[in-house]
Amino acid sequence: MKSEKTLTPKLVKKLWLAFIGLVLLMGASYIFITGYFANKHSQETTQRLNAEVANHVIAEKFNGASPFMEDGSVNKALFGDLMHDMMAVNQSIEVYLLGKSGEILYSVVLDPEDKDAAKNVDLIPIESFIADGGTRFILGDDPRNPGEKKIFSAAPYSVDGHEGYIYIVLAGKKFQEVSDNLMSQYFTRLGVGATLLTMLFSVIIGLLAIWFITKNLRLITRTVRKFHDGDLKARIAHPEKSDIEVFAKSFNEMADSIVSNMDKMQSIDQLRRELIANVSHDLRTPLAVLKGYIETLQIKRDSLTEEEKDEYLQITHDNVDKLSNLINQLFEYSKLEAEQVVPVKEPFSITELSHDLIAKFRVIAQKKEIELELDNPEENCLVFADVSLVERALQNLIENAIKYTEPKGKVTLALHKKGKNVEINITDTGTGIPVNEQPYIFDRYKQVDKSADSKKQGHGLGLAIVKKIMDLHDTTITVLSKPKEGSSFIFNLPAYQM
Ligand code: ADP
Repeated sequence: MKSEKTLTPKLVKKLWLAFIGLVLLMGASYIFITGYFANKHSQETTQRLNAEVANHVIAEKFNGASPFMEDGSVNKALFGDLMHDMMAVNQSIEVYLLGKSGEILYSVVLDPEDKDAAKNVDLIPIESFIADGGTRFILGDDPRNPGEKKIFSAAPYSVDGHEGYIYIVLAGKKFQEVSDNLMSQYFTRLGVGATLLTMLFSVIIGLLAIWFITKNLRLITRTVRKFHDGDLKARIAHPEKSDIEVFAKSFNEMADSIVSNMDKMQSIDQLRRELIANVSHDLRTPLAVLKGYIETLQIKRDSLTEEEKDEYLQITHDNVDKLSNLINQLFEYSKLEAEQVVPVKEPFSITELSHDLIAKFRVIAQKKEIELELDNPEENCLVFADVSLVERALQNLIENAIKYTEPKGKVTLALHKKGKNVEINITDTGTGIPVNEQPYIFDRYKQVDKSADSKKQGHGLGLAIVKKIMDLHDTTITVLSKPKEGSSFIFNLPAYQM
């Protein structure tokens, strides 16, 4: 079996690149989101845990010892000890003594020389922290890094007429250093781990996905190849279940139409061969007759009576007529068959045309003692069609009706307005057509009972031409016939409304 490459290496490469790109993007987003929330989670936990620290400082240290000297200045000795003690226990915190309006009164972490350090702390976050009892996650100013926001604990004090706040930054400089360091290590490990895992999963999932996606494609490719190799019955089973349903169905439809076109072409070819065989036969007979009579006339010119000569000449004349008739019909039919005839539709009076045709065929009908009649109760019927094509069709139908009707019979051409159409009906009281033959009489070279009266035998082209003319007018012709009773050929043409 040939190897089945459903997807080209180029497409596979593109799919892989897209897949890896997607996976990496997802991995990066995942790491970023995890980092962000992990950081937030740790900060929130720290703030909740240490929410009461500022309160404790006030309760423990300001009880009995004032943070202010008698002259109102800050008791730096007391405060310095306090801050150093606290920060020795928990290196991540930084303690500030704030005045009533948020001005920084003292802190051991602030370098008095540092011009960049803040002089004030925004009171809004502090007040909402106190109001909520420290239960809400709020960020406040970091005096050492103005512009940055940090988690904090705060509590108000009121000692010796001094009011203000103890403000403790919970994630101070030390915390930040340790956290940043750990974070970068954590990120590196997470990044490497996540990348490796993602790569592994992407390879597994990618292979599985490509296998699944191409499963249906492989089936279709196999079927198309079978069809290509000559198995015309190859079709995709259950196309509605395929992932690429439209494609599968389209292939099946395409295969059906290829097969049906092939059948059609084969049958056209078969008919063409039959036509050639029949035409040659039809041409040979009158030609042989002609040749025979002409030779007789040439050889026996002197011994023949005048009557005999006239009779022989009449026979040759009839055969020439037959020949030219056949050639004309063949020519006409082949033009119609090759779709070279474009109908030129125009309004015309079918009543007038019928009168003309009846007049034309009256002599032939009278010769056979057949009554030929026009039944047209409406005065003048106008139709919209190609006048010469309709004339040709009516001519063929009347000709047949007269040909297949016995003497004393009757042929009627009836015109009746029916809604937006005019119904045209050619009825005879002739031989009729056997029911089983009726569906085939419009096919080329179909003649009912070939052995019948040879005089009546035509070439089987008359009705085929009529059928083609009907097709060009988007209408159909129906035959109603009973053997020995007669036949009716009925068709409609669009009436012309003035
Ligand atoms: P043909 O040249 O043989 O008449 P047509 O195509 O005109 O060819 O007709 C096909 C066949 O249909 C005829 O051979 C004849 O058997 C049958 N047929 C056509 N018209 C009539 C009719 N009015 N009455 C009986 N048979 C008919």
